[in-house]
Amino acid sequence: MAKTDYYEVLDVAPDASAPEIKTAYRKKAVQFHPDRNPDNPAAEDKFKEAAEAYEVLSDPEKRQLYDRFGHDGPQQAGFSGFGDVDDIFSHFGSLFSDFGDLFGRRRRSSRRGADIVVELELEFLEAVRGVSKNVTVQRYVPCDTCSGTGAKPGTAPTTCMTCQGQGAVMHRQGIFAARMTCPTCHGAGNIIREKCPTCEGSARQETEEKLNVTVPAGVDDGQSLRIGGKGQAGPAGSVPGDLYVALHVTPDDRFAREGADIYCEVELHLTQAALGAAIKIPIIGGETDLDVQAGTQPGQIEVLKGEGIPRLNGYGSGDQIIRFVVEIPTKLGKRQRELLEELAELEGINANAKTSWFGSGKSKSSKSKSTKPKSAKSKKKSKSKKAKKKQA
Ligand SMILES: [Zn+2]
Ligand SMILES: [Zn+2]
Repeated sequence: MAKTDYYEVLDVAPDASAPEIKTAYRKKAVQFHPDRNPDNPAAEDKFKEAAEAYEVLSDPEKRQLYDRFGHDGPQQAGFSGFGDVDDIFSHFGSLFSDFGDLFGRRRRSSRRGADIVVELELEFLEAVRGVSKNVTVQRYVPCDTCSGTGAKPGTAPTTCMTCQGQGAVMHRQGIFAARMTCPTCHGAGNIIREKCPTCEGSARQETEEKLNVTVPAGVDDGQSLRIGGKGQAGPAGSVPGDLYVALHVTPDDRFAREGADIYCEVELHLTQAALGAAIKIPIIGGETDLDVQAGTQPGQIEVLKGEGIPRLNGYGSGDQIIRFVVEIPTKLGKRQRELLEELAELEGINANAKTSWFGSGKSKSSKSKSTKPKSAKSKKKSKSKKAKKKQA
């Protein structure tokens, strides 16, 4: 179903102020309120649509995302609409009580079922690119037999006389008056005389449900997604809790992550670093060509702008930061050794008297040591320093 523009839904101008948006929403909510439009699915849809539009346009961050990316924008901030009308009441509870007595009857919806947390494992790239996954949730839903009323089929709960179905009573003490949960019906607003045989009046039954979860691109380990209304069903007449999907992200061999930036190491052969090379390197989208400059130093950093992870707030992507590691060959064939020795000679380095790299004052004992591969690192360092000096 194509969604209507949120500004159109609320009948406001695209530059409407926050109070204008609130007033417009209040008008729509009153007009399409389920209490005023019983058994009217079209009105219920309008009611939901207005709530969704208000949720997005009243939040500066979500509004900005919507203005930039349309209906897909707010999803990146983890908002994907409301489950049902009760979800709207539970979400905007305080706002509806601002609206006054019209919504009083719905206040008992503040009784809600428990939230559920499920864990979801994601591969590194799934978290980066976004993914759609199924999760299985063991949860309570309204009982089928009694349609969640808790009353035996054919009978109906009767209105509680103590609170006249309000679920709450006013408790007066002197000049003060406070609203309290009704002691007779415990907030349900009605009394079940004959209990449903299936759920014994609890109004709910346990079920295993498979839910499809849309994970937005750019999520990170430890974050969680909220799915409104998919928690436990509560007692009759209450709002279900929410489902929280806790995300666990498996680390990747090639990439490390810090916020929206991605770090990776790229190995270069000694000759690639010295001569420059056209190589392929991994990026989150696959592979990309990279021109390695001649004279690239070990540890040198190259930044690929915008090749990192999409930011959850929608403002572009982070960067990919590449660190070059230069491999020094540890085993040399005869010809390779000859070439390197020739190079050393050209550079004015006496390859057979390796101590010269450490200064002429070194004793002969270090000569044998330096032939071991272990010292390759320090050799490399002093060599690159030398190379730098020559360039300068
Ligand atoms: Zn039942
Ligand atoms: Zn009552």
